[in-house]
Amino acid sequence: MSKNVFVFAEQRDGVLQKVGIELLGKANELAKDLGQEVVAMLLGDNIKGQADVLFHHGADKVIVVDDPMLKEYVTEPYAKAIFQITEKYDPEIVLYGATSIGRDLAPRLAARIHTGLTADCTSLEIDEESKNLMMTRPAFGGNLMATILCEEHRPQMATVRPGVMTPLATDHDRKGELIEEKVEFSDADMNVTVREIAKEEEKKKDITEANILVSGGRGIGGPEGFKQLQQLAEELGGEVSTSRATVDAGWIEKDRQVGQTGKTVRPDLYFAFGISGAIQHLAGMEESDLIIAINKNDTAPIFDVADLGIVGDLNAIVPKLIEEYQKEKA
Ligand code: FAD
Repeated sequence: MSKNVFVFAEQRDGVLQKVGIELLGKANELAKDLGQEVVAMLLGDNIKGQADVLFHHGADKVIVVDDPMLKEYVTEPYAKAIFQITEKYDPEIVLYGATSIGRDLAPRLAARIHTGLTADCTSLEIDEESKNLMMTRPAFGGNLMATILCEEHRPQMATVRPGVMTPLATDHDRKGELIEEKVEFSDADMNVTVREIAKEEEKKKDITEANILVSGGRGIGGPEGFKQLQQLAEELGGEVSTSRATVDAGWIEKDRQVGQTGKTVRPDLYFAFGISGAIQHLAGMEESDLIIAINKNDTAPIFDVADLGIVGDLNAIVPKLIEEYQKEKA
């Protein structure tokens, strides 16, 4: 019988990705509702040492496949290893991060296992009666939320974007069971040769990883408006983010967009400059610890979720903030 909630613990260059840790938090809730356990799947080369981190964040068991074939992510060896684990352990649920790796791996496994997959879920709950996983995600361009069930097949599989689920607090005393699995790889499994990994030089941090976000909306007036927000972000050690209006207008790249069709962020401090606070924007940032909204319209809905609000022209306020932070540093 299918049992337990499995999480694919993604790693890159031997470093566990935050999304896997976040998924362990959600997996704990689901496993509790089912009276089952949380199992993390950790694949890589020389990766076993990372298992403790997964125990500290909620895994009851960690299944490790440690093999040089898994050093870099290549679809076929990773799919083969996870397929083998799935066949042997028959999970009830498997969760993946909706990262480039998760988005490549999860559909391939769904096809191989003959089960369903719900991508980009924003909510996962167990139905009290049927004990099925209710997988909710935006549908029809985000105009409605659809709850999808996979009643006939197991495992029930879902991908979730980084930043959506909340990790458990680290518990260094938490321990679990480490299970080592061996997969018989052949040369034919490595159907792709990785010749070189050319990394783009990342000057900017992903907005889901930033502790401080300086967000600007249509109210900043044009692409030039981001220059002073960038300066403020640099003073604060934060990153610039935005609403969809400016992305649609071509003022800034899409990867900076917060909201229902952008990224979900949860920084310590979120500045909203010239953002009205549409429901689709709030969906991506309202869980921020401290929200400071600056808007010239005192009835803007952003003030309903803000902890602090300044009613005024951002063109006067941003330079003053930069000046104050510079003075403080001097
Ligand atoms: P506006 O709504 O135009 O607000 C501009 C604000 O700036 C106003 O409140 C104004 O008072 C203020 N302002 C103007 N000048 C100044 C000034 N000088 N100083 C101070 N304040 C000033 N939106 C998202 O953000 N993220 C999403 O992921 C997203 N997904 C969507 C999905 C769907 C299916 C749909 C239908 C919409 C989605 N939207 C999303 C769009 C959303 O509905 C809003 O249109 C958008 O968030 C508005 O962006 P804005 O607040 O920057 O612009």
